[in-house]
Amino acid sequence: MDFSFTPEQEKLRFDIGEFLENNLTSEYKNVLYDVAGVGVSKEFTKMLAKNGWIGMQWPESYGGAGMGIMEYVIYREEMVMRGAPIGYHLTAENQMAPSIIINGTDEQKQRIIPSIAKGEMSICIGYSEPNTGSDLASLQTRADEDGDDFIINGVKTWNSGAIHSELIWLAARTNHDVPKHKGITVFLVELDSPGITIDPIQNMARIGGFSNITFDNVRVPKSNIVGELDQGWYVVAQNLDFERSGIERVASNYSIIYDFLEYIKTHSNNTRNNVGNSLVRNRIADMFIEVEVGRYLAYNIAWMQSKGLVPNKEASISKVFGAETTKRNSQAMLEILGMYGGVDYTSHYSPIQGKVLRSWYGGISSTIAAGTSEIQRNIIAMRGLGLPRT
Ligand SMILES: Cc1cc2nc3c(=O)[nH]c(=O)nc-3n(C[C@H](O)[C@H](O)[C@H](O)COP(=O)(O)OP(=O)(O)OC[C@H]3O[C@@H](n4cnc5c(N)ncnc54)[C@H](O)[C@@H]3O)c2cc1C
Repeated sequence: MDFSFTPEQEKLRFDIGEFLENNLTSEYKNVLYDVAGVGVSKEFTKMLAKNGWIGMQWPESYGGAGMGIMEYVIYREEMVMRGAPIGYHLTAENQMAPSIIINGTDEQKQRIIPSIAKGEMSICIGYSEPNTGSDLASLQTRADEDGDDFIINGVKTWNSGAIHSELIWLAARTNHDVPKHKGITVFLVELDSPGITIDPIQNMARIGGFSNITFDNVRVPKSNIVGELDQGWYVVAQNLDFERSGIERVASNYSIIYDFLEYIKTHSNNTRNNVGNSLVRNRIADMFIEVEVGRYLAYNIAWMQSKGLVPNKEASISKVFGAETTKRNSQAMLEILGMYGGVDYTSHYSPIQGKVLRSWYGGISSTIAAGTSEIQRNIIAMRGLGLPRT
């Protein structure tokens, strides 16, 4: 692995930094509602779109800049590290557009890709169900053929971002007579279709990003199938593979740690949070060691992908470490802040707008989202170390 960036990549990082210096106001930095620990602002997304920052990794024929995976990682790292609210378009840009470019029809590509690039379309993910999470192939939401349409019935849950999205990327069962991996199809469904009910779920951090989505006889044209009928498992697996570095997980730590440092430097009022206290200083140094390690684990994934290698256990290692680093670091910051750390963001006594407390809550959920730490450890044990399944 080559640890250095090319002069062009350094220039890109500089340009993004300069753009953010000029455009990332404190209002945008403090946007509260988040998806995957990243704030959501459609207005900010539109500004990025206007400046051509969305879709830089897509081929030029789709309105992208044809940039490489490392460049895209640098872009996301800079955005998230500095606290930019890119959550409105992140999933659509990062996961859905590449899947649609490979598996979608021409009509889907023309309809969807330019809208994402313009900052006008957000797509959420409809995989999990009340009884389906880690074992995704057991999903029960059904899609039954009816002329030129399919009729969808079922419930999706823990859905991030449905409340601001236009479309849901939905995995549904279209064949009940074959092994469970073989009867799944992916659909793109307009979230304002008749029969869809979105019930927001507020999590324990009082962030309303989740939803329960009920499909009651929702009619979807066959032209909205992505890939082939009954072959959705492969589309899903590939979709989950897109940009697996997970750089956001560690990058989001930096903006909080820097804000936290500024705060305790100016608000130390006892030995517990005094930056002159060697215990406090050592703990902060440990936090930096962890985020730096997490960063290089994430770079390694991007580098492997840029060389055409398929990260497997490496992606799981990066996922576990990134999620658990956030958890450990926010725990450390909360302990240093003492009782003030637990004050909710709605109170003006809350240090740095309650970001540490939110990160602590978020750290827990990031060990569950996109495959739990236990599942990642299973992958590392089996595919990385050759240990038996049971
Ligand atoms: C912040 C967040 C955002 C999310 N966003 C979305 C989204 O946008 N769209 C979407 O579809 N879903 C989303 N999810 C749901 C997420 O994908 C699931 O929560 C996750 O896959 C786990 O599934 P589950 O909750 O059903 O838990 P389960 O799969 O029921 O697992 C329960 C517990 O058992 C453990 N376990 C399960 N199987 C094994 C095994 N084989 N070996 C060892 N331990 C095991 C798990 O690790 C876990 O601790 C999100 C979740 C979170 C927390």
